[in-house]
Amino acid sequence: MLQYISNKGGVEPVDFETAILDGFAADGGLYVPQSLPQVSRAQLQQWKNLSYVDLAFEVLSLFIDRSCLSKAELKQIIADAYAPFEKQEIIPLHPLKSRPDTFIMELFHGPTLSFKDVGLAFLVNLVNFFLARKDQRLSLIVATTGDTGPATAYYCAGKSHLEAWVLYPKELITREQERQMTCLAQPNVHPFAVSNCPQGGDDLDALISKLYGDKEFKAQLKLSSVNSINWGRVMMQTVHYFYGYLQVVDTLDEKINVSVPSGGFGNLCAGALAREMGLPIKTLLAANNNNACLDRIFSRGLLSKQALHSTPSSAIDILIPINFWRYLFFKTGSDGQLIKTWMDQFDATGAIEFDAHTYAKYSAGFLSNSATDEQTLALINSVYTTEGYLLDPHGAVSLVAVDRLKEQLGSEKLLCLATAHPAKFPEVIRQALAHDVLPDQALHHSIEKAKRLSEKLYVCEYNVVEYALRQAMLSNWQFTQDRNRLN
Ligand SMILES: *Cc1c(COP(=O)(O)O)cnc(C)c1O
Repeated sequence: MLQYISNKGGVEPVDFETAILDGFAADGGLYVPQSLPQVSRAQLQQWKNLSYVDLAFEVLSLFIDRSCLSKAELKQIIADAYAPFEKQEIIPLHPLKSRPDTFIMELFHGPTLSFKDVGLAFLVNLVNFFLARKDQRLSLIVATTGDTGPATAYYCAGKSHLEAWVLYPKELITREQERQMTCLAQPNVHPFAVSNCPQGGDDLDALISKLYGDKEFKAQLKLSSVNSINWGRVMMQTVHYFYGYLQVVDTLDEKINVSVPSGGFGNLCAGALAREMGLPIKTLLAANNNNACLDRIFSRGLLSKQALHSTPSSAIDILIPINFWRYLFFKTGSDGQLIKTWMDQFDATGAIEFDAHTYAKYSAGFLSNSATDEQTLALINSVYTTEGYLLDPHGAVSLVAVDRLKEQLGSEKLLCLATAHPAKFPEVIRQALAHDVLPDQALHHSIEKAKRLSEKLYVCEYNVVEYALRQAMLSNWQFTQDRNRLN
């Protein structure tokens, strides 16, 4: 049976259900599978013509023991998760006219218009399924740089066994993203706007870790998280790499390159693990904005926490690529002790310079770039003007990296991941196109609809957030317990 362990090496192996419901491992590490399943060429051949949903079933089955989830249950959860996506292909590929063999992978056709829907659709439904089976309720907390929050809120809304607390840095996300959380009618979703966070979403992630560390509070409120620490998201995100590869290659002798707009390294970690499982990816391109955290890691071997810059690609204004630790675990030959030493050192000092041997191991097969704000805006403009295709700022960061590293990438087919719909970032689009009137591609009916709805949210300042959040969560939990008893 495939079991899960902590990448810090400090917990006994657990089954899949426990890894998913716990979120964090008890030693503060991230859950990883004890070994990575391998995919043979014959398997890839069999999967060649599968739909996204059928392929998801095959890939996820490699990670999930049937004693946790039967075939029929897994099929049903996947089907329910992707039913709200608006394109039948789930993840369409758009070939660019201006660049040969370059496909924009549109990961943003879920209900909240970002790539976060891809992972959370499955994970939230899975968590609710496990809870319903045990007849237990949980409080989920997530922090968001703008997209995790809406996706979590949407998929939790109205779910029988979940309360969802969604924390966001008030000034650092767009109004469109905010309304995706605040305009939901269902009473089990609690958007929590926090003003004046010095380090943005990372501050709120730190708060969540702290609440998790409070064993009494955690037990009392049955806390869990579906943030990118949760293995379920990384696992689900491996699927689109397999899908994209099988869609674009003519034969399985081909390798491809993939460019990924990155912040927390969740999406890239999934791509890297897919490659470790045997998917023929030549180069993974870590595309950063000015918050060049991954670029420093891959170009210089340096992980270092620096001041946050606000950029047009705000969903990747992230300084701590938490999922890098998950990938590094596999690249050190599953050395949990070493990962623990590094993670603790990074928590204490905010910086690590990796030794040459480690650097050589983890950086093989990676390139990186950091796009300036000007490059990002200019690229949105030029692709729209030359071929009428509108990229969101994150997709643009991804394509800037491709253009700048073309020589090193070579001539393989390339997937350029576009992770959000431009309708979430109207101000950036106006600025990029130097035009006040938005083109149709920058509009979406769900965004327009939300403008006509009322909003419901908690608001507080960063300096009181811990107390305010604890109080709000406690009173809500008490209230819902009482009400459930009365019913
Ligand atoms: C979250 C997000 C990313 C970054 O994904 P990571 O897994 O954190 O690297 C990129 N683009 C958008 C639009 C996002 O919401």
